[in-house]
Formats: sequence, C-alpha cells, structure tokens
Amino acid sequence: EGNLDYKADSQYAKSMGNFEAVSDFARSKSVKEQREYLPIFSVRESLMNIIRENRIVIIVGETGSGKTTQLTQYLYEEGYTSYGIIGCTQPRRVAAVSVAKRVSEEIGCKLGDKVGYAIRFEDCTCDQTIIKYMTDGVLLRESLNESDLDQYSAIIMDEAHERSLHTDVLFGILKKVVLRRRDLRLIITSATMNSQKFSEFFGNSPVFTIPGRTFPVDIIFSKTPIEDYVDAAVKKALEIHLQQPPGDILIFMTGQEDIMATCVLLNERITELGPNIPKIRVLPIYSQLPSENQARIFQKSDLRKCVVATNIAETSLTVDGVRYVIDTGFCKLKVFNPKIGMDALQITPISQANANQRSGRAGRTGPGSCCRLYTDTIYREDLLENNIPEIQRTNLANVVLLLKSLNIGNLLEFQFMDPPPQENILNSMYQLWILGALDDLGELTELGKKMVEFPLDPPLSKMLLEAERYKCSSDILTIVSMLSVPSVFYRPRDRESEADASREKFFVPESDHLTLLNVFTQWKNNGFRSDWATNNFVHIKALRKVREVRAQLSDIMKSLNIPEISCGNNWDVIRKVIASGYFHNSAKMKSIGEYVNMRTGIPCILHPSSALFSLGYAPDYIVYHELTMTTREYMQYVTAVDPYWLAELGPMFFSTKENFQEIERKRQKEAKNRIIEELVASKNKEENKGQEDE
Ligand code: ADP
Ligand code: MG
Repeated sequence: EGNLDYKADSQYAKSMGNFEAVSDFARSKSVKEQREYLPIFSVRESLMNIIRENRIVIIVGETGSGKTTQLTQYLYEEGYTSYGIIGCTQPRRVAAVSVAKRVSEEIGCKLGDKVGYAIRFEDCTCDQTIIKYMTDGVLLRESLNESDLDQYSAIIMDEAHERSLHTDVLFGILKKVVLRRRDLRLIITSATMNSQKFSEFFGNSPVFTIPGRTFPVDIIFSKTPIEDYVDAAVKKALEIHLQQPPGDILIFMTGQEDIMATCVLLNERITELGPNIPKIRVLPIYSQLPSENQARIFQKSDLRKCVVATNIAETSLTVDGVRYVIDTGFCKLKVFNPKIGMDALQITPISQANANQRSGRAGRTGPGSCCRLYTDTIYREDLLENNIPEIQRTNLANVVLLLKSLNIGNLLEFQFMDPPPQENILNSMYQLWILGALDDLGELTELGKKMVEFPLDPPLSKMLLEAERYKCSSDILTIVSMLSVPSVFYRPRDRESEADASREKFFVPESDHLTLLNVFTQWKNNGFRSDWATNNFVHIKALRKVREVRAQLSDIMKSLNIPEISCGNNWDVIRKVIASGYFHNSAKMKSIGEYVNMRTGIPCILHPSSALFSLGYAPDYIVYHELTMTTREYMQYVTAVDPYWLAELGPMFFSTKENFQEIERKRQKEAKNRIIEELVASKNKEENKGQEDE
C-alpha cells in the first residue's frame, strides 16, 4: 500500500490502455484505503464540527496520525476553498515539499497544480492552487504585503510544538488577523504536550486530541557515556541488522556531515562482512539533500531500510515500518552564542521531549525498541525537559526588521507566547543599527526599509544595496546567490584529490567570495552547460538553483530601481562591499591561518576549504561570512580586507582617530620589520654561501 505500489499501479494503467478506467479505480481505492486507515479519519466528523464552530482550534495528535496530510484535504472537501485557499505552514522546507508532493498524489493532481508549495526562492503554486504548503517564513513574508492574508480561508500552523522562530512570530501576528477577519479559520497542530499553553495564548481555544495508536517501545540506555556516536550508532545498527527480526531502523544523527559519515561507515562494514550477510538499504535524509533522494525514504523495499536522519524525522516526516530507533542524543541547533555575539550552528544535547518523540517513532506499526546512546543518568539529570524556543536562543535581526516594517513600534510590547530575552532584542537592534538599518531612535532608515524587501539576512541585503554605490550590483548579486544555496562544489568519495585540484583552479587568493563569483562567471561564460559543471566537479543542480535565486533577487533589485552593473575585474570594490555587510565579523591575523575577532578577541581559524588556507596567502585583516563551531571556531567564506575600509564602514567599532593611526603605525612597523627580516635572510644566505665557498 506504499507509495511505490501506487506508482506501479499507474504504470500498469498506462500499459493496459483500454483498461485504464479499471486500474484508475484500483488506484484511487488504494489511496482511499490508506487515507481511511489513519487515526485522524476516525474522528473526522467531530473534528470538522469543532472547526466549524470555532475560529481557532488546537489539534494534538501523535506523529503519523494524519494531521499534516489530511487536515488540508478535509477542509477542502468540506468546502472551505469556496472563498479562499488553505495554507499549511511547516517549520522545515523538506517537510513542506515532501508533504505537498504526497498530498498532490493523494488528490491525484500534478504537484504545483491544485496542491503546491512555496519555500524561500521556490514557488511551486499557480492560480489553480487551493492547498498550499509553505514554510512559516514564507507566510510571515506574505503577511508583510497583505496584512490580513486575504487569500486564505484557513491557515494550519503545523508542527507548532517545534516553536520555530517564524512560527512564534506568526502566532502574535495571526492572533490579531483572526480578530479582524471573522471568516478565517486558524488551526494550530502539535505533536505533543504544551497544548494548554497554546490554548491559553489563543484565548482559551478548544483543544482537540486525536486518539493515538501506538505500541510499546522498549528503551535501552547506554551503560556508559559514549565518545564517538557515529561509530556507536553504526555498531548498534549492525547488531540489530544481524540479530533482530525484520523491521526498519531509524538513526537520529546531528547533521549532514555526521549522516554521510554514518552511511558510508555502515555500508563499509556490511561489505566487509561479505556476501552472505543480508543486504541493507542505507538512506540519508537531511534538509539539503536533493528532493528526489529524499523521496527514496518512502519507497517500499524488500531489504531492511536504515534511515539516517536529522531531527526532521522526529515529527515532520513519518517513515512507516520503523521498529528500531537509535538515538545519539544530539542535534544541530542555531544558537545565539553570547561569547562571539552571534548565531552559530552548534551540536547540542536534545531535550527529554525530543528523546521521547524519537523513541516513539519505533512504535508506530508494532512494538519496537529504542537504543539511546547515552546513560539514563544523563537523560534524567542533564537533558532539559523541553526545548528552548528558537526565539529565545537566536539572533532576531531579521524578525526585528520585519516587525519594524509592520509598524510594530515597541517590540518589547509585541505579544509573544514566550518573549525573547530583552537582551536578544536589543542585541539584534544593535546589529541592525551598526548596519545602518535602524537610526539612533530605533526606527527604520531608508536603507532598512529597502533591506526588508529581501528574504535574506540583513548583512547580505546590506551588501546588495551598498553595491549600487560601488557599481558592482551584478557581481554582488551573484555572490549573495551563491551564498544562499548549499556548497556548489562536488567532492565524490574516492575522487577527493581530483575534486580538490579542480576546485583550486577557481580559487581567488584573497577571497572565498570572489572564488564563488569566479565559478558562476565561468559557468556562465561556458553557456551554463552541464557538462562543464560535471567536468569541473561542480553540482549542476546547485548552480541552476543559484541562477534561479539570482533571478529572483534581481527582480527585487529592479523593483527598487537599482541597475545591474558589473565592475568587471575591479575586484577591490567587491571586497569593500563585502566588508560593508560583514565588518562586524572582522578578524586580525595572529599567526598563519589563525585569527582573532577584532571586536571580541575570540580566536578563530580558517576553514580548510578556504582559498586563503590552501594558497597559504595570509592577509592581516579579513571578514568572514559565518562561524561554525565544531571542535574549533572555523570561519566560513573569508575575504581579505583593508583595515582602512573597516574604519570607514564600521566607524562604531574601528572609528577613533587613535585607532586608525595605530593601525597605520603598526602597518608601517610591520612593513619595516618585514624588510629587516628580508635583509637578515639575504645576508645569512650570503654568509652561508661564503662558508660553502671556503
Ligand atoms: P502527522 O502530520 O500527524 O504526523 P502525516 O499526515 O504526516 O501525519 O502522515 C500520515 C501518513 O502519511 C503517514 O503514515 C506517512 O507515512 C504518510 N506519508 C506522509 N508523507 C508521505 C510521503 N511523502 N510519501 C509516502 N507516505 C507519506
Ligand atoms: Mg505532521
């Protein structure tokens, strides 16, 4: 009854020609049966009644009960689309796309037709679309342009328990919209607990619980703390595969890198064990995975499946047939790090609530088991009971910018379910102020108003706007677009050195940003050819995505009357524009490859993939795009800058005359030192020569 059967059916239908009608019936019946088997179906009528009678309803139901895929269809079938469309928000892009695809299949239409999705830089909807899945960020942007969200008759805010930043902001906004629009239905869904809190926030709205259908899950804690969770997870998976009855395995990993490492290692171990060992299908899933690969986790297979996932598989996506869960106890989170004064992706212990969600995935279709790769003491004493909502732990600059442009003057008075710490708000306002988006009174400046138009982080939109003045908007557009997609460089296993050599050919010694520009420009000069990309170890799909993103940003530039101009080879101005958005991320060299942040004094090092790293060029001053914190603080995408620019562009940090002069004095001194060193070196050489002669 899985996805694959349905596809097989439709192929069958084609091959049967005249009998198509019969097969069509068979197909729709199997989809219908699937839909009716879901727990939500048994309560459909009472659920629709409560939605008819209340403008806001909270719905709680176990993951897999059918909330995401069925609610939209029920509302459609009940006629709610007669005066508007049905919107359903997801905190994750992957989920929005995958679920829209599933629902379009259930309804029997092409994706993007009646059922579509919209995520940042990708709108797969049309005039006929009546069910629209989207990320919460997309709906938030829509509310900027259309404050009453008039096109919607119903909005489902899915996965509310995730408490993503945009969901939390939407809560406050939608609460007001519902007061203004009596015809709008607002439905909040949550996989777990906390429903009371949602209900209270929305004026004691009714909570509807979908009865669950779960089986007991055996929980096995690790006896001792584990050092290497990748290795431990692979061992466990092998153990299960070799000793336990059929049933799929689901491993919760942190992020893409760990996931790929796990998949590779697991496949290697299986191969090592020889041909007599039953095969296994190892399937990664994470947000940046291309969507056709994502779909594979839903395909039926005769082999045992082992899905290796981020926390996306916790509640957003349900893989049927999982009986064994392996939980590393970690996830990757964007966290505001006060030490460095900005957000950084960090591997963080999960909460008890996450842990319970994860183990629950093993008991969907029958009794299961969950291996936790941490001790029960850690679970009880170290893990937080619940997640900290994103709004309380990340940089809010973007949100502050949005709210300011919605004319919400005093952010400290905005109705948040859990208000962010005042310090976070002030910090973000500070960041916007140094970029020139807010004035001294905290109001949007002309620059700030323009920045709001871009669905980008404030420093990136600042770069785009600043590019006008330096006549390099076309080049900056490319760079910003390249930074908005996952890395374009392709590094297949077994061909790493070949790939690295190929990548190095693109390197611009003083800048990773210019390196990115170089890649795109060369692709363009080669007619956007895909064989060019393949030959140069560059992902063609990523490049096409860059081109799409670029076109969209270019449209926004046009609407702001900013002409698209290239500065050709005058790369210095490009570096200066980069500095105009990122001077707060400037660092000064300490020793080769090692820098210290100029504001905070925090040490940070070049990422090994940086052009500056590989070419051994060591500029004294640099700016970087972001920091990733693994074992050390790595700077990603680095560009050499002139310290004068920093003084000019970031006067609040580097302005004082003394400072400026000091930089200059140091520079001269260093130059002198260098000359002396060189003199000494050459003198030594001569002396050595002399000795040899003797
Ligand atoms: P909930 O939102 O309550 O967690 P869903 O509506 O997401 O539940 O899932 C209901 C069912 O639909 C699940 O059994 C799941 O396996 C199935 N399903 C969801 N998405 C897909 C997909 N892309 N392909 C195949 N099956 C899917
Ligand atoms: Mg769901």
